[in-house]
Amino acid sequence: MRLLFLLILFLFSSSTVHANEVDTDAWIKFYDVANVSVKSEKTIFSWSKVEVYSSSKSESDLIMKYVEESMIAARAYFSSSSVKRCDSKELRVFFIKDKTLNDQNLMTFLAWDQWARLDINGAYEGVYSPGRTGSIFLSKTPSGKSVRKLVAHEIAHYWQDQHCGLRNSEITAREFEEHFVKLR
Ligand SMILES: [Zn+2]
Repeated sequence: MRLLFLLILFLFSSSTVHANEVDTDAWIKFYDVANVSVKSEKTIFSWSKVEVYSSSKSESDLIMKYVEESMIAARAYFSSSSVKRCDSKELRVFFIKDKTLNDQNLMTFLAWDQWARLDINGAYEGVYSPGRTGSIFLSKTPSGKSVRKLVAHEIAHYWQDQHCGLRNSEITAREFEEHFVKLR
């Protein structure tokens, strides 16, 4: 499975000209270190294939369930006449150890300067991911919030990246996660 992914990674990196350079070596190193060999996949909406990677099937399936709930809630929450989908990146979600996520020498494709180089619970990355994908990275042990709420927060950023008429806003992502946890 991992070999296939790496092959795809190579094909994308060698045949596609990106405005933003994808650091293939950094991604290969990440896959080597992060223990993300078990994948769940699902096409939640027709434009959005999702793959969740972790170290066990039960973890990948649970995160996929949270992703699906968040995407369905996001579709309703962010719908308005001025919001239109204008991108269709596939989504890859990585459920990893907090220590791995916050290894700034490993996770070089994340925008650490934006976060004053402080530790994070999760991140959405839509520029330096391989191929036409966006990536969500989640700590298995987030501080101060549940993993379910963290998933909703990062899905809000994915939603913002896929839709014109929505700004990439930290405030809106927080409002959405608060809305999401009240739905249950
Ligand atoms: Zn955020």
